[in-house]
Amino acid sequence: MKTKPILYSLEPFDLAGHRYRVALTVPKPNPQGQTVSLPAWIPGSYLIRDFSRQIETISARSGNRRVALSKLDNHSWRIEPCTGPLHITTTIYAWDLSVRGAHLDETHGFFNGTSVFLLAHGFEEHPCLVTLIAPALVNWRVFTSLPQAPQPQASPKVIRDYVNGFGVYTARNYDDLIDHPVEMGRPQVVRFDACGAPHEMVFTGVIPNLDLKRIARDVKAICETQLRFFEPDTALAPFLDSALKYVFMTMVTGDSYGGLEHRASTALMAGRKDLPTLGQKKAPEGYQTFLGLVSHEYFHTWNVKRIKPAAFAPYDLTKETHTRLLWIFEGFTSYYDDLMLLRSGVIDTHAYMQTLGKQISGVHATPGRHKQSVAESSFDAWSRYYKQDENSPNALVSYYTKGSLIALGLDLTIRSATNEAFSLDDVMRELWGRFGRDFYQGAASGLKEKAFVRLVSDCTGVNVSEPIARWVYGREDVPLRALFAEHGIDMHWQTTSLLPTLDVRTRKQGDQVVLATVFEHGAAHQGGLSAHDVLVALDGVRIDSANNSLESVLARHRPGERVKVHVFRRDELREFSVKLAAPAQTLCQLKPMTSSS
Ligand SMILES: [Zn+2]
Repeated sequence: MKTKPILYSLEPFDLAGHRYRVALTVPKPNPQGQTVSLPAWIPGSYLIRDFSRQIETISARSGNRRVALSKLDNHSWRIEPCTGPLHITTTIYAWDLSVRGAHLDETHGFFNGTSVFLLAHGFEEHPCLVTLIAPALVNWRVFTSLPQAPQPQASPKVIRDYVNGFGVYTARNYDDLIDHPVEMGRPQVVRFDACGAPHEMVFTGVIPNLDLKRIARDVKAICETQLRFFEPDTALAPFLDSALKYVFMTMVTGDSYGGLEHRASTALMAGRKDLPTLGQKKAPEGYQTFLGLVSHEYFHTWNVKRIKPAAFAPYDLTKETHTRLLWIFEGFTSYYDDLMLLRSGVIDTHAYMQTLGKQISGVHATPGRHKQSVAESSFDAWSRYYKQDENSPNALVSYYTKGSLIALGLDLTIRSATNEAFSLDDVMRELWGRFGRDFYQGAASGLKEKAFVRLVSDCTGVNVSEPIARWVYGREDVPLRALFAEHGIDMHWQTTSLLPTLDVRTRKQGDQVVLATVFEHGAAHQGGLSAHDVLVALDGVRIDSANNSLESVLARHRPGERVKVHVFRRDELREFSVKLAAPAQTLCQLKPMTSSS
């Protein structure tokens, strides 16, 4: 018996009001009553988001008859029993300019399937057909990695819409359907082949004279390096199991940064100033950060979209899903993202060492790494990493940044132990072969927590159980200085400033300077200052975000001096006595050892 597809249609019908109309047709609904729901979270972003709260209206009918719905919980509805095809229509508000949600205005539309497509329970594995309806009055095109159904024999308007990418798309099942975000509008586009596989980069937003050629050249080099990394013999692109091309969709704004990975595409946010302009000899400083983001999300095509923790195979999108392994899936990805920039020749060794030094400095600056392990940080992503506050640097460790240092530590350890015969690269390829390559071809299983140490030893012969116990489950720093020394690299700490310090992080609030974080055991903490305090004066000299910056006021003092600090805590003026600390050694410097040193 042939499985009937579940049908969806989506129309951006109210651009000014930011509303999509989305319909779902279930050909043979559950005769006991059909249940439908939206995901509570989107894979890759570990926070309950309740996308269903943006559903403004929902109604159901069967034939010409209205059918009653009742809500079961935050994101599910039950529809009263009916025979024959069931049609459900929703209007959905889309004004979330992030990689995780849905957005619509007169310039463009963007959506993730998790924000718009209801799941018909019991039909998870049925194929889906989605009709994207072109909005009236604008001449938009569609960009997505979802495969388009063959060209219809139809009217000139249908043909024109088809050419613009509107019309019918196919998905293998619901999990596939919600893993291909869609961009619509008139963006700037550049295409290239990497190892023979088609890639498309789409830039939405106002970006005059964007140097698309330069971006395509650099990104192509990064993609080819990664394709050859995972498949040294064939360089076969992983996403060809699900799509005909890979799509990078970037929303460009004044100042933004972020990305979310999918099986054959990624949604990115980037700042305009970080992108190269035509005719510019030297790319802007932030361009390397943008390429690092591109490299990171592309690496996820293998690591987390196909090689997955067992807890994500399959995803349960109704509730939090815990895994202690995000240090592998985000941490290793964070290690390889910059390393791939170096290996592809997009940056040189000097730039790579600087970037690595900054990353080490960042981890070193969080006292929370002594309180939480990366295994705990992974597990608590939902309630802690994704819900950070002013005290997070004192309480948490990042499974991204410390995870990347663990990857570096394991890489150096394996290289030393095997005299460079093996490295972490072999571990990644082993993971790919065992879990990733056939994930969407009927062999969906994931990495179990306890299996990692054994897997490393199987493919490299090195027993990493002790470093894993110390660095991952314990709270020890990765002994990078010693590991680097074995590889002829000198690591040392420098001070970035000669000024005394309060041991705080600050932020601007209008012309005021506010304490964002007070580091535990630091000068401000010992003196009684608190996060959210508004700095008023230091020894009677005003502090503001313009001419009297905290740095300029501190410059007249010396470490060890005791100063009076006036702050507003809420609306009350308070005075504290703070002993200024010596400038901290906060910058990690890496350089090749010379033979004489
Ligand atoms: Zn990531």
